[in-house]
Parts: sequence; C-alpha cells; structure tokens
Amino acid sequence: MPLHEKSEAVYAEVLARNPGEDEFHQAVREVLESIGPVLGKHPRYTDAKIVARLCEPERQIIFRVPWEDDRGEIHINRGFRVEFNSTLGPYKGGLRFHPSVRLGTVKFLGFEQIFKNALTGLPIGGGKGGADFDPKGRSDREVMRFCQSFMTELHRHVGEYTDVPAGDVGVGGREIGYLFGQYKRITNRYESGVLTGKGLTYGGAQVRAEATGYGCVFFVQEMLLARGDSLDGKTAVVSGSGNVAIYAIEKAHQLGAKVVACSDSGGYVHDPAGIDVALLKEIKEVRRERLTAYAEARPGARFVPGRQVWEVPCEVAMPCATQNEITGKEAAELVRNGVVAIGEGANMPTTPEGIRIFHEAGLAYGPGKAANAGGVATSALEMQQNASRDSWSFEYSEQRLQDIMRGIHTSCAETAEEYGMPGNYVAGANIAAYTRVADAMLALGLI
Ligand code: GLU
Repeated sequence: MPLHEKSEAVYAEVLARNPGEDEFHQAVREVLESIGPVLGKHPRYTDAKIVARLCEPERQIIFRVPWEDDRGEIHINRGFRVEFNSTLGPYKGGLRFHPSVRLGTVKFLGFEQIFKNALTGLPIGGGKGGADFDPKGRSDREVMRFCQSFMTELHRHVGEYTDVPAGDVGVGGREIGYLFGQYKRITNRYESGVLTGKGLTYGGAQVRAEATGYGCVFFVQEMLLARGDSLDGKTAVVSGSGNVAIYAIEKAHQLGAKVVACSDSGGYVHDPAGIDVALLKEIKEVRRERLTAYAEARPGARFVPGRQVWEVPCEVAMPCATQNEITGKEAAELVRNGVVAIGEGANMPTTPEGIRIFHEAGLAYGPGKAANAGGVATSALEMQQNASRDSWSFEYSEQRLQDIMRGIHTSCAETAEEYGMPGNYVAGANIAAYTRVADAMLALGLI
C-alpha cells in the first residue's frame, strides 16, 4: 500500500537511520500505511512531526552481560533495553532471551508495544528489551547467573515510575524471579512494581501467566461474535507451545473449540482428539522437555518433524510462536483449508503478504498488537495491585481482562468503520492507538 506523502520522507529517514533492521522497517511501514487517512484529515500531526518523533526511540541502551557456565567457562552476551515512548506512562514491555535477538529485533518489538499498550487504555508507555542469550539446554543455575548479571546492569535504568520490564520469549516466571531477586538485592528496595509477571508468592498477579493466551482467545471470540458466529465447535491450530500457546489452548477449549495441533522449533504435534493441556503443561513447564515427549506420552498423537503446523486444516488459527512465521504461502494454505479467524498471540507473526491474503479473503484477522494486548494489560493490572499493596481474585482479574479485550475489539472495529474500512482490524488498531498517543504527545509540548 502506498504511503501518505508526509510519511514518505519519514519512512526514508527510518530506513537510512536504521540500516539492516528489516523487522523494524516492516513494523513501521505497517503503521505508516494505516495512518495515511488520519494524516490527510488532521494536519496538526504532520505539522508537529509526531510520526517522525514516534519512530525514533527516546533512549536505547546496549550493555555487556558476562556470566560463567557450570564448567567455569566465561560467556559474554549482549543485553538491550529500548525505551521507546513514555507519553502515556512508564516504558512497559517484555524482555526476550533468544540467540536471534539484535537491536533491530528489540526496536521492532518496542515500536509495536507503544501502540499495543495505548490500545489497552491503561497508563503505560512502550519499551522492550532482551539479550542474545540462548536458554536452551542451560541449567537452572546458569539461567540464574545470567539473569543476575543482566539485572546488575539493567537495574540502573528501570523502576516502577521509569521502566517496567516483564517476560517475552525465553523469559518466564523463573527468569522474572531471578531478575527481581537481584534488583531487590542491589537496590535494597522491595519495589514490587519494577517488574511484572512475578510469582504469586512475591507480588505477582492472578491471571498474568494466562493473560496473553486467554486474551487472544477472547479477542477471537469477539471477532466471531461480530460476524454472528462463535468459537463453539470450531477446530483450531496454535503455533508454539510456550506460555502464550498453552493458555490460548486452555481458553479455546473452555469456550468449546478443539485445538488439534501445536508446535515447537523442531516441528508440530497433531492430536486429533484435542491437545491435552495438563500433559502439555507438565512437559513444557515442569519437565522443560520438547514436544516429541508429548507425542510419546499421548496415544493417538503424532509428531511431524521439520514442518509448519499451518498445513493442518483448521477454522481458527492462532500463531503464538514468533515473528513472520506466516508468509504468503502459509496464509494461502490456511485460506484454502477453510480458516475463518486468525488471532495473533505472537508479535507480528504474519508478513505483509500474508496479511494481504487474509484481508482479500475477507477473514476475521486480529493483528498481534490488538489480539495479544491482554498480556501487557494484565501487567498494568499487576502494577495497580503492587501500587496499592493489594491482590485481586482470579475471577475478578479474568473479568477485567475480558472487559479490556472487549474494549480493544470495540475500539478497533469502530475506528475501522469510521475511516471507511469496516472489518479491517489492522487499520482500526493502528489508527486508534496512533491518535491516542499522538494527541497526548501534542498536549505535552515538544518532547
Ligand atoms: N511480552 C509481552 C508483550 O509482547 C508482555 C509485555 C508486558 O507484560 O510488559 O506484550
């Protein structure tokens, strides 16, 4: 899609300033394409160069993370925190530990986070961090030493009013515990609100672990309800088998769908009877094993190595693994096999070509920054509970999450309608989020 004339120069500048950061370019391009109609209508945004300001992070931190493995060998990793935009609140967003993490990865995720967080309607700005550390095959003690070293540098940049990290790929409850322990030790402050995704025994919130997956399913349910349909009786496929995937499967089952496949980096498991969530949790969360162990333990299930889960026919697809896993090829295959709704639990899992195919087929396509916002929204609820030294029940927290997801769906749907693109949740999400952040930026002066 062509860009608005005022965005052309901004995009050229983003390419020139951030060479080789393809994923960041992709994330920026999508937002710039969507907000064309807004810029045409409201010159105040272009006059104040809001778009150009939004594309440049407020602060980018890169640091060395030295640590020692169990054999006494020293390793040096690179840590990042991109503090992208603090207009609506403290920088908020997860930490990703994965060998593929580069500055450009963190920038694309941080940029997405600004808009996702704005959509929740809660007071959180956008940021993201991580390291090129590979937790795969590392012992518990090695992971602890890495987290301690990472926080030894990060602690000077974060705080409950400054920047509040959480988990992402490779960072779950265990890592957040080690990071929080080190922060507490270095600062001598029991500052619960400095990190979210904490364990329930030390300031964590009910439903935070479930929130991204549950929220994604709530969003899919809203999209289907808007079309006079529902999840009940639908066959679904989920990619990934981490925290987001597990709880997306759990909630999809609770709402009457049957999830017949999920995946890891080695391939996918097909279980026509429906994925056994208790077994999946045991294997991934307790035993920390690969999905092949699931197929071995479950009669009727089969592991298909080296292939993409999207070849399994389904009506609902929920990509919950990583970016750009659905290209034009996978999108076309999903459409051919009868998919009706796509909810993105991962960040930017579909390429622009894939999105075009879904839109042309007239499907209910919920982009990550709307569909997976339940995770960060529940992080903001955790921050609320920490600030008031309170803790809410599971039922109340889940109700809040469901209300927030319904609100995000309504605001995306209404905005898309207002700008003449009914049913286009990409346009709706980007425009609704952009106007919220841009109006606040205008109000705060030249920042
Ligand atoms: N990493 C999650 C996301 O992509 C959650 C971030 C948070 O809770 O701060 O939104």
